[in-house]
Formats: sequence, structure tokens, C-alpha cells
Amino acid sequence: MAAVWRGLRSLPTWTLPLVLGLVLLSLPWFGLDFTLSRQIQLGCILALLVSGLNLSLGYAGELALGQVAMYAAGAYTAGLLATAGWTDLLLQLAAAGLAVVLVGVVTGMAGLRLGSLSLAMTSFFLILLIPDIVAIFEEHTGGRNGLAGIPAGTLLGRPVDPESFYFVVVAVLIGWFAVMRNIAASRHGVALQVLKQSPVLASSMGISVFRMKLLAYAVGAVPAGLAGVLFANLDLYISAEAFGFTMATTILAASILGGPMSVYGAAVGAAVMQAGPNQSSNFQQFALVFTGIFLIAGGVLLRGGLADLARKAVDRLDRAAGLKGRPEPEAGEAPDLPRIEGVELGVEDVSKAFGGNQALKDVSFRALPGRVTALIGPNGSGKTTLLNMISGFYRIDSGRVLVAGAPLKGAVPHRVARAGVARTFQTPNIPEGVTVLQAVASGRYSSDRVSLLSAVLRLPRFRRAARADLDEAGRVLALVGMGHLRDAEAVSLPLGMRRLLEVARSLVGAPGVLLLDEAASGLDEDEVDRLAGLIRRIRAAGGTVVLVEHNFRLVLDLADDIVVLAHGQVIAQGPPSEIAENPRVLSEYLGVDNEWGADHGTAAEFAGAAKTAEAPEEAS
Ligand code: ADP
Ligand code: MG
Repeated sequence: MAAVWRGLRSLPTWTLPLVLGLVLLSLPWFGLDFTLSRQIQLGCILALLVSGLNLSLGYAGELALGQVAMYAAGAYTAGLLATAGWTDLLLQLAAAGLAVVLVGVVTGMAGLRLGSLSLAMTSFFLILLIPDIVAIFEEHTGGRNGLAGIPAGTLLGRPVDPESFYFVVVAVLIGWFAVMRNIAASRHGVALQVLKQSPVLASSMGISVFRMKLLAYAVGAVPAGLAGVLFANLDLYISAEAFGFTMATTILAASILGGPMSVYGAAVGAAVMQAGPNQSSNFQQFALVFTGIFLIAGGVLLRGGLADLARKAVDRLDRAAGLKGRPEPEAGEAPDLPRIEGVELGVEDVSKAFGGNQALKDVSFRALPGRVTALIGPNGSGKTTLLNMISGFYRIDSGRVLVAGAPLKGAVPHRVARAGVARTFQTPNIPEGVTVLQAVASGRYSSDRVSLLSAVLRLPRFRRAARADLDEAGRVLALVGMGHLRDAEAVSLPLGMRRLLEVARSLVGAPGVLLLDEAASGLDEDEVDRLAGLIRRIRAAGGTVVLVEHNFRLVLDLADDIVVLAHGQVIAQGPPSEIAENPRVLSEYLGVDNEWGADHGTAAEFAGAAKTAEAPEEAS
């Protein structure tokens, strides 16, 4: 039994969906009556709609209710083209795909620019508009009576009878799911998951939040447009009624039921909705009520939908078959870190006030390649604020930040990231639903850029970048001693490991400047040692490291230059030996901030530690 499971698990993950798709395709040979055939085709159409919603809701985290509007746009595009004599299905599919991307980009830009829930509202509004638009163009659309007598579709000049049309529908479904799977498995899929959970993290990785969301929304419109073409050619009749709220809620319910953050969950959710509430005409009048029930059941009982249940079941079987034990750290030398082209970071007279609170005042320092520059100071002294200014999250009131000599004037976070500045966060930011390896690899989003199209088509360029992503991520993971955890779920890690994962993620793109915000807090002794070792290697490899740290011993041990902040101002700057004996630093820590003293030992001890750090032979 276990052996059979292991054998099955060694197959590529797309095997099962492909087999199911082929079974669906071959059903007519086993005798398929008209009613069942029609139900399956409607189920496929619904699955396409749901899949598009999953892309924007499940992956990009934007509630876009406009699937139905895109569906209508596709259907009317096909209907009008056919009536005008353009009956070729490929032509209709292409035209509808283009039309909905256009509608998607235009409405998405408006909705996304306004932010928060406005995309949900604009897309919702689109549904309300459908009957009106249809009525306005009554002459062409048939208005309330619907568009009847659409000429049957043709394929490359040959008429397509209803039996053959079944194959067209299933083929479009299989084709789209292959596209969707390729998107989800690519770095863009991971980027979308990061974005959904934390726009801050996404932009710090070089992802433009606006463009990425727009992309998900516009690409998510494509299957809806295709579904519209199929629907128009299935019944050869369309009317605005088919594109109303019942349909919108059905799509939403199927998405939530199947699991919005899954590729194939869309097909499962659609199948359930099609076989259930949508099927019986007795239920039609109660359709909204039933859909509502499914929506609530899905939302309340099944977080993550049926797809999540399936994932858990697979996980359990894996464990039972001994495929997933508790992994042990592997022994052996950590791999080498390739050369990092560190660049100089210059902070010149930077000031920032939050209302009346002067968080930073005329802060200047330089961080050089091949050196660790530590930024220390009591809680609230402005360290995190300074990192946020450097990485573009806050606007600088006055002064400037230079990376490799070029000022980052008014730069937004994803541009700063692309200029080679990587960072970790004081509270680790770990995306859900990805493995440790994927989370680390996502840090390479701005290295060797790969378009969504080449990911969909799996072009050599994409394959090369994907291989490099995984190789690099694997190597850096081994460097932080987490190689054995590569396939674990990233969010399942304890705090210490999360921090190391963040460091690995920010390091994997070989950044010119690496900003670490309290990277050692919450780490156990062994993990601190590993982190310190890693930082030394980064320095040796030529990296520029800015280390915000509370652990004074670690700072004295690691830093080449120390910048001391208090109340938003630099009160001392210099090598560890000087800082540890600086009277102003000592009085600041001893006098003003007791917490610092209590948590981390007295300044006198620091001074002792500094001496020890300088003369390690004597200390032992
Ligand atoms: P540190 O990281 O050194 O502990 P911070 O940079 O987090 O300190 O905070 C410095 C000061 O700026 C604090 O007084 C804090 O309250 C204030 N501050 C930080 N971020 C904001 C913000 N987004 N809005 C208002 N005040 C802030
Ligand atoms: Mg802080």
C-alpha cells in the first residue's frame, strides 16, 4: 500500500489532472446522453469562470466580482461576431480574450488606483451595467429578448456539430488549466501569494504591487471571456439574464468551496455547484438561497476549501508512507558564498517627523562594501524608521539616501529593491502556502526578470531562471543550516527559523546592500552563532551589511563600524573599541534607558565585552 502511494507520488503533480481531463474528453465514446453532456459543458464553463476568480481573489487577494461581466463580454463578442458571419471558434476565442483583457485593464486600473475595496465595488458595478448596455445596443444584442439564432460555430472552415462542440469545451478547459498551473507554479505565482499576504514584503522584494494586482485581474478575466464564447456557442442564444447576480454568487461559492488559493479546486468547486444547486430546474427559483448556503458552508466549515482538505489528506498519506518524517539537519561543510558586489550606502542628513514626533534628525552615516555597519540605540530611537526611509516606505523630509553614489530621491519601495537594496523585517514576514525553498527563491524576483508569458509557455528563458532560483535558494538555505527544511511549509517554522529564512530570502538575490532589522532577536544560542557566521561570510564575500541589533555582545563581535542613535540623532559613530568606551554612549544607556541596561547588561559589562571581543585570546 505504502509502496503504491510512493510510486504514485513520484509522478509529476499534473498527472492526475491530466488523466481526469483525458477521461472527460473520452466520455462521449462511452455513451453520453444529451442532458449529461450539456451539464458537463456548463460545469466546464463554470470551472473557467471560477479559475479566473481564483487568480485575483485567491492569489492576488483582490475581491473582483466582475467575472460575470467578463463572461458577458465574451459571450456577446462571440454572438455579435457570429451574427456578422465570423463563426470561427478560434477567432471568437481570441477576440473575446483580447476584449476582456482590455476591459480588465481599464476597469482594474480605476479600481486598483482607488485602493482597498474599490475594485470589488467597480467590478460589482460592472454586473449592474450589463442589462443596461445590452438594452442600449438593442439593435445588435436583441435587448431584453436576448440574442437568438446565433449561427453555429465553425473550426477552420468546418461546421462544428453539438457532439464535436463538447470536445472544444473540454479542450479549452484543459488548455486554460495548463496555463493557470504554469502561472501558479512560477515565481509570479509565488509573488502573488506574497503580495496577497503582505504588500509591504512584496514591494521590498521588487514587486510592483499595482502592476501585479492589475496583471492578476486582467489575466483572470481571460478564462471568463473564453467561457462566454463557449456559452454563446453552446445554446446559440444569450440574454442578459444569464449574467446576473445568481451567476456571480455561484462563481464565488464554487471558488470558496473548492479553495480560492488552488488551481484545480476551481474545477472541483464548479463540479459540486453544477451537480448540486445549478442542476435541478426545481431548484432554480431557490438558486440564490442554495448558493448562499454553499457560500456560508464553504466559508465557515472549510477554510481553504476542498483543495485544503485534499492537501491535508495527501500530507497524511505521505507521512504514513514514510515520505515525510521529521527532517534532520545534515552535517557537513556549508557551501561557499559566491562573490557579492556590495555597494556603498550613503545616508546624508536624513530627517523625519511623524506629526510632532521628530523620529530622525540629521542622521548621516556610510556603510561600505565588505564591512558590517551596526545601527544600535534604545527602543524608539529611530532604527527601524531609518531602514524604512532607506527602503522607500517613508518619504524623506529632508536629506538624501544614496546607493552606489546615486540618490534614491522619492523612490518607491519596489524601485529601491530593484536598485539592489534587500532587507528583513523586525517581525518576520513569511507568506502562507509556499514551501521554505519557494519563500527563499522568491527573493530573486528582481534578478533575471522573466515575463508572465514566458512562464505560461515555459520558454527556455523561464526554465533557466526557475532552475537558477531553486539552485540559489537551496545553496543559501544550506548556508543558514536549513537545507533539510526546504520542503517544509514556510509558515510552520518557529520564530528563530523564520528569521533565518528572512535573511536567506534577502540574501538570495545577491543584494548590493543588505539591511537586517533585529535579525538575532528571538534566536537561540545556536541560531545566533549560525547567523553571526553567515554575516561574516557575507562580509567576506564583499557584501554591504547594515545590522540593526539589540544584542550588544553580538554587535561588538561582528561590527566594523557602529552608529549609535538616541532620540533620532546619531550620538556616536566609530569602531567597536571606541564606542564601548564612549562616555556619552555609556551614560545614554546607563542613565536614560533602563530597559536597555536591564535586558542586555550594563554598559560597564559592554565595555568588558568589547575588550574581550578585541582580544579573544585573553578571554579564553
Ligand atoms: P526603533 O526601531 O529604534 O525601536 P522606531 O524607528 O520603530 O524605533 O521608532 C522611532 C520613533 O518613531 C518612535 O517614537 C515611534 O513611535 C515613531 N514612529 C515610528 N514609525 C511611526 C509611524 N509609522 N507613525 C508614527 N510614528 C512612528
Ligand atoms: Mg525597530
